[in-house]
Amino acid sequence: MALETPNHTQTVAGWAAYDSSGKIAPYIFKRRENGVNDVTIQVMYCGICHTDLHHVKDDWGITMYPVVPGHEITGVITKVGSNVKNFKLGDRVGVGCLAASCLECEFCKNSQENYCDQIQFTYNGIFWDGSITYGGYSEMLVADHRYVVHVPDNLPMDAAAPLLCAGITVFSPMKDCQLLESPGKKVGIVGLGGLGHVAVKMAKAFGHQVTVISTSPSKENEAKQRLGADYFLVSTDAKQMQRGKRTLDVILDTVSAKHSLGPILELLKVNGTLVVVGAPDRPIELPSFPLIFGKRAVKGSMTGGMKETQEMMDVCGKHNITCDVELIKPDKINQALDRLARNDVRYRFVIDIAGTSKL
Ligand code: NAP
Ligand code: ZN
Repeated sequence: MALETPNHTQTVAGWAAYDSSGKIAPYIFKRRENGVNDVTIQVMYCGICHTDLHHVKDDWGITMYPVVPGHEITGVITKVGSNVKNFKLGDRVGVGCLAASCLECEFCKNSQENYCDQIQFTYNGIFWDGSITYGGYSEMLVADHRYVVHVPDNLPMDAAAPLLCAGITVFSPMKDCQLLESPGKKVGIVGLGGLGHVAVKMAKAFGHQVTVISTSPSKENEAKQRLGADYFLVSTDAKQMQRGKRTLDVILDTVSAKHSLGPILELLKVNGTLVVVGAPDRPIELPSFPLIFGKRAVKGSMTGGMKETQEMMDVCGKHNITCDVELIKPDKINQALDRLARNDVRYRFVIDIAGTSKL
């Protein structure tokens, strides 16, 4: 493992956290040359995912500092490798969580690269050449074209950026639970944050009745009026949760902190499925009674494969689904991370990396 290898010749300006204080400061580093399978991207926007916060604070104990976060990247192609046929100069593209995978295992061959056991992430990963990967809080990115998608023309690059992680992370389990092809289900979304708010928009676009389960009563009006949710349950209100018992077919749990799954499982009908996508730093409690009395299932889901990510972008283009974003300049990243930690964002911060927006 090395910070840089000899093929890292391109100097890039970015923003990194240097230790678990999580404070972000400017960072100049090197990226690899554009290889035959690579495209170079001028980064325009990068969303601030809660995973970035987990990483800069080393919540999961896996951070390699300095860490340049960012895996909700949109930008424009400025260089194309000789093997790359599906992208050209000037294309509007997006990069999410994946930087590399083995390309040979059953999951890679089946367009489920996200479950390859040699997967490397866009940041805090180790690329094949031994270098540590640096993410989208930076002005330029070199990416293997197999992990890059097109951004539909009708989607604005700022509000589309969070689709690259938040969007695909909720789209993939919805697809897995057949929510794309069978409308009319009762879907619950736990946690109305970056992931949760896109999930509400998608579930509505796919024709479902949507219940938000939230700790924040202040989000109820927006959830219903802006995002289109049908019902809103305050998870700390036992009476409301009691009324919601056995009403939902599928629930997506996007919560970033430790919480009990018991009351959430009770909201599922018999045979219902709870998909956990939130990744708290401590284990979440899973009581057995609500599981066995309702024959309910709990599963996880991790981002999505690349084919599915392009499909998700195209579906969002078709339904005009974008994220509700608060645009910030790079010098406000620390304030944004502090506000994200306090659950004070509607609903995703996006950094205007290229400085092209009027802020
Ligand atoms: P976010 O914007 O901070 O949203 C999380 C939401 O969880 C908050 O808005 C809040 O919603 C709720 N919440 C926060 N603290 C809570 C607590 N103590 N108890 C109950 N609810 C609480 O975060 P995000 O970017 O959507 O990410 C959510 C989680 O998903 C993170 O852990 C992130 O690392 C993980 N993630 C996983 C994947 C994957 O592939 N599986 C991909 C991306 C992110 P309310 O105010 O409505 O309660
Ligand atoms: Zn993310």
